[in-house]
Amino acid sequence: MDYEVVVIGGGIGGLTAAALLATRGVNVCLLERQSLVGGCLANIEHLGYQFEPTYGLYLGWEPNGIFARIFSELPVAPPRVHRLSPAYVVRLPDGIDVAVSDDSNAFEDQLRKSFPESAEATVEFYRQLVQHEVRSSRWNSSNRDLTRILQSCSLRFRRFIDIQLQTFAQCSSENCPADLAALALNPHDGRWEIEGGGQALADSLAESLMQSGGTLRLDSPVLRLAYGPEGSAVGVDLLSGERVIATRGIISNLTVWDTYGKLIGPSRTPPTISSQLRKLQSPGAYLLLLDMDREAVSRLPSRRILALTDLQDDQPYDPKTAQLVFNAASDLDRRAPQNKLAVTVSAFTNAEDWFSFHEDHNTHAEQDQKMLEQIWSRLHSAIPELRDSVEVIESATPQSFYETTRRKFGMIGRPHSEQAMLNGLSKTHLSNVFIVTDTTSSGLGIAGVVESAHVLTSIIDKISA
Ligand SMILES: Cc1cc2nc3c(=O)[nH]c(=O)nc-3n(C[C@H](O)[C@H](O)[C@H](O)COP(=O)(O)OP(=O)(O)OC[C@H]3O[C@@H](n4cnc5c(N)ncnc54)[C@H](O)[C@@H]3O)c2cc1C
Repeated sequence: MDYEVVVIGGGIGGLTAAALLATRGVNVCLLERQSLVGGCLANIEHLGYQFEPTYGLYLGWEPNGIFARIFSELPVAPPRVHRLSPAYVVRLPDGIDVAVSDDSNAFEDQLRKSFPESAEATVEFYRQLVQHEVRSSRWNSSNRDLTRILQSCSLRFRRFIDIQLQTFAQCSSENCPADLAALALNPHDGRWEIEGGGQALADSLAESLMQSGGTLRLDSPVLRLAYGPEGSAVGVDLLSGERVIATRGIISNLTVWDTYGKLIGPSRTPPTISSQLRKLQSPGAYLLLLDMDREAVSRLPSRRILALTDLQDDQPYDPKTAQLVFNAASDLDRRAPQNKLAVTVSAFTNAEDWFSFHEDHNTHAEQDQKMLEQIWSRLHSAIPELRDSVEVIESATPQSFYETTRRKFGMIGRPHSEQAMLNGLSKTHLSNVFIVTDTTSSGLGIAGVVESAHVLTSIIDKISA
């Protein structure tokens, strides 16, 4: 079959690009290897539970935000969202809870009470962040300003900043560009929950694609790009042997590693790009999927808790051992049997450690069990109010992420180094092949990916068929 644009992957990036192009009259086909859309956002179903595999904290839903702009173009309604107030609570290792809210006075009072050892410096940090420098030239993409201002704050406050930066931007205050930190930390930007979770957003975009006359093909793994006799990319070859032609452009929603390694192919990847890609690494995620007695939620300070489990004095911030993120489903979402709530607890882990290919399945099961026990014990120390209200239903390791999404080593989110090379990168060295993925997005979470998809579609609009 021939299409103008072929999109490979039905994660949030591929779906947004395909839905927008289809509504603008482009003949587009999206090929997804799984039997459902959503990629990293897809619900994890187990024993009658539907777990949301994220923190449940979404940006960009304000009026005139990126989602309002996207859905104003689409023929479908957006999923229902609710602004969270407070957005979440950060629990410090000494048990102090800091609720992050967009009420400036209440938040400043809370900062002064929670960090008496450097009260005015912490308030000043947030004032500078919010009031002026944020998206202007004084806070630029370097990290200098951030570390300079934080130097006058206590370690407890720096770690309060680190856990938020790591959760939302996958970097710590020591290596986070100041403009990205401003995006991640500004309490006025707010956080929303999506009814039905990220899956509901993915389903709306898929529906939009089909209503606009686009083609959605599930269970259609793409093997590689197809090249014409002159070496230009002409479409894609599916695992089934079928060739799908793209006359105008090809969009990869695979990670930057997989776009080059699998689709474009190592022999066609310029050596400079290959060597940059080798230096990039993203973290892995380990998820504990729990059921919780519904009544236990009243004992918690919030349904979303960023728990700092260790201050890590005298060492750089290591999110693998310093933090856990707790996300209890909203009452609006029926994700669990009556009187129960579905809970996702997320931790960082080294993705590659879960891929010792020479060892057997039992090694993975043992590693999983060991990690489960560690997280379980850290969870109960950090949130003792849980008592015996929670039970483990399932866990997910980087191998699980690999099995569902085929991301290299199941790595998630923004790569650690050489960000400058990737930020906002949507073009490849092939003139008609583009990337839209969280590994190249310059924004945060799905809002960042959706923004990149929006920008990319305007580039494709300018390419003639
Ligand atoms: C633990 C965790 C918590 C998170 N919490 C939040 C949060 O609270 N808020 C937020 O905004 N973001 C959050 N995120 C980030 C967000 O979920 C991801 O960044 C985003 O979903 C990634 O979307 P994507 O389109 O880049 O790629 P993916 O979701 O990886 O989609 C890629 C798609 O391509 C498909 N594919 C792969 N190979 C092929 C092939 N060969 N042929 C066809 N299809 C293929 C895959 O099956 C997949 O569907 C979280 C992520 C994690 C891991």
